[in-house]
Amino acid sequence: MPAEAELTSAQVKELFDLLSSKREMLESQLSESRDALKPVALDQTLQGRVSRMDAMQQQGVAASAHKHTSTTLQKVASALKRFETQEFGYCRKCEEPIGYGRLRAQPESALCLSCQSSLDNQ
Ligand SMILES: [Zn+2]
Repeated sequence: MPAEAELTSAQVKELFDLLSSKREMLESQLSESRDALKPVALDQTLQGRVSRMDAMQQQGVAASAHKHTSTTLQKVASALKRFETQEFGYCRKCEEPIGYGRLRAQPESALCLSCQSSLDNQ
């Protein structure tokens, strides 16, 4: 497998901006989904049994979306931290450059493609 090229400073800046706006977007998604996660109202005069089950099911969907968003946000935040230590763009496992193409598609990636795929296959 050919080694990926190191990032240019322009690419680093571009990916930093990308991650920053991704973090903002995820944070606002999280605060919206927090509203959807408020306890299901148990007021029987307003909601019958069926609609309460509905509400709980919707809440389950919202909860898993919320979890996914907050996991992504954690990855984005830790990727942003790696800019400070100049580690951004390098695989956390083998320390080779991750490659611009992969980072452009998924800037929060902490592993190069080959380390990621060996991880996925475990
Ligand atoms: Zn690697």
